[in-house]
Amino acid sequence: MAELTAAHDLVQNLAQDVVAGKRRALARAITLIESQKPSHRAQAQDLLSALPKDRQAVRIGLSGTPGVGKSTFIEAFGMFLADQGLKLAVLAVDPSSARTGGSILGDKTRMDRLSRHPGAYIRPSPSQSHLGGVGRRTREATMLCEAAGFDVVLIETVGVGQSETMVAGMTDLFLLLMAPAGGDELQGVKRGIMEMADLILVNKADGDLMPAATRTCADYAGALRMLRKRPRDPQDFPKAMMVSALAETGLQAAWDDMQTLIQWRRDTGVWDAIRADQALGWMQEEVQSGLRAALETHPQAGAVLAQVQGDVRAGTLAPSTAAHRVLQAFAAGGAEFSDTENSPDSR
Ligand code: GDP
Repeated sequence: MAELTAAHDLVQNLAQDVVAGKRRALARAITLIESQKPSHRAQAQDLLSALPKDRQAVRIGLSGTPGVGKSTFIEAFGMFLADQGLKLAVLAVDPSSARTGGSILGDKTRMDRLSRHPGAYIRPSPSQSHLGGVGRRTREATMLCEAAGFDVVLIETVGVGQSETMVAGMTDLFLLLMAPAGGDELQGVKRGIMEMADLILVNKADGDLMPAATRTCADYAGALRMLRKRPRDPQDFPKAMMVSALAETGLQAAWDDMQTLIQWRRDTGVWDAIRADQALGWMQEEVQSGLRAALETHPQAGAVLAQVQGDVRAGTLAPSTAAHRVLQAFAAGGAEFSDTENSPDSR
């Protein structure tokens, strides 16, 4: 009991330090929410519940295939924002990092100038491959960064379809970074990804690449016009524009456009509606993953599952009947939910 109280006090102090903007506390808090240990999960829930809910950052998702210039862009754009006195946190979603051994070193050295700026905080991606786990971790880390008073939380993801959908589902704005390309490469961009983008930034619009960048930008602008107009967008959005992360050009224009979009969405209530939908979506995801985990470890349901699997395979039992039996065993047997209790209320 005394141990529990001590842990509770520790978490309350940590929450206070995070809110006071102490970087080391933020780093420790993110480490806590990344931990899979059940006792840490309970503390993480406590921590998130103790955070104030009235601080909002602009959450920006950024995606693009490797080599397109994401780190160069984040460094340039991050410095641009930080030099204006804005506080910026960078989080990374990299489901492949477990395979490649993690980009822990990579992230720090990739954004050398930004990582040394007092207004910026860069959190390397954890070596965790399970997309669901990465999603929760990133949402919770975003909550922590908002509570810590950051103005902008930028979430970077590598161009893998599923992680893009996930990041678009937890951000206010979604940026797609593209490289100048030959005419036919446009086809390669998945329509779904284009539909998620609020701004397509054609990077490397400099030097010899300028003509190709101009052509590519016009192609994307054309393609965006063909997509169905989203009611949540003002005139001219989503749009394609050119930037150069290396020459640091186009950054002001890109930021201006983001501000326009943000202001429009705030004025029309779209901003709150998107956040409300995302909060609800997060809760539903947590419920589903909690149910799935409980089902997987449920003895009676597991026994029925083992029993019916062969029959379903053999075609002697209808899949829906078999599923019904498994669920009935689950419902009858009582279930243990270890992690979804006390879920933090999100915004
Ligand atoms: P990431 O894999 O998407 O993070 O891409 P990087 O930021 O590591 O950049 C990949 C390569 O593209 C590097 O050699 C960069 O120097 C180069 N690069 C990035 N941005 C620009 C740009 O605006 N112009 C030019 N010419 N090269 C760039």
